[in-house]
Amino acid sequence: MEKDRLEALRKKRAERKRKQRIRLLIVVICFAAIIFVVVFAVKSAVTFIKNSIPTPTPSPVAVVSELGEPSAAAQTGEAAVPQNTAEPVQYAELANPSEQNDILKYFEENSSQKKVCYLTFDDGPNNSVTPLILDTLRRYNIKATFFQVGTLIEDNFDMAKRVYEEGHLTGNHSYDHTYSKIYADGESFINEFNKCSEQIKKVTGDDYFPIMRFPGGSFDAGSYGAAKQEYKTLLAQAGVYHCDWNALTGDAEGSPKTTEQMLERIKSSSKNKNQLVVLMHDANNKKQTAEALPKIIEYLISEGYTFSRLDKPIF
Ligand SMILES: [Zn+2]
Repeated sequence: MEKDRLEALRKKRAERKRKQRIRLLIVVICFAAIIFVVVFAVKSAVTFIKNSIPTPTPSPVAVVSELGEPSAAAQTGEAAVPQNTAEPVQYAELANPSEQNDILKYFEENSSQKKVCYLTFDDGPNNSVTPLILDTLRRYNIKATFFQVGTLIEDNFDMAKRVYEEGHLTGNHSYDHTYSKIYADGESFINEFNKCSEQIKKVTGDDYFPIMRFPGGSFDAGSYGAAKQEYKTLLAQAGVYHCDWNALTGDAEGSPKTTEQMLERIKSSSKNKNQLVVLMHDANNKKQTAEALPKIIEYLISEGYTFSRLDKPIF
């Protein structure tokens, strides 16, 4: 009897312990379930809040060019770059070339408080450097002047066309850029001019502007200096302007220049000048010029210059 009673008691205890364990297990499971539900709820709430906040979409920068068109940067949604003037510009009149065909001299004589920069690129066009220069000018909404060589227009007609169609001025830089040939005598000089002009007119049609840059400049120095002064008169008689420069990057002097060297040269040569005609080159060995161009432009913009073509002076 005693044995049975003890056995019953042991069973009862065991049963109680089992029930206790089950209760504990249920509590643990409930607790874990509550934790899980809370974490899930918080996560869902965070995701919902995140999704319901609108992310700002970049709106196109409305940069307006002189012509009132959105700039290339605005059209492509590129990061905004400093831009050429957004103000509508009133261009000045040039003198009659028979009276004053030296454009740089005329600009300097008429210089006012306005700071104006005329970028010029000589010795193109070609398919390597010219397109790089054009891309940069487009990005900054700048129109420039390209003094092109007749034989290169023949060889790279499509690129000459692109220069024109993108709104730049095409000037005459002789037919084949050989000094001994161009400057041999007056007849050779005019012949070189005319042959290059024929090529330019194939590109521009009636939209032709008579302007020449003497290869090597028109300065009264060196072996052709004296002859060049006579050729200026020949151009005046033919109703043709010519233009040297009063600032430069030095990109055609000696060994290739770094961007920093070109920038320094621009800084020193442009000092205290409000009418700035900058000499650069887009010959096919002037990749450094194309690389430096954005920095040069940004420097000139930061100095307050507006950009224009040589046939559209601003005083
Ligand atoms: Zn040249």
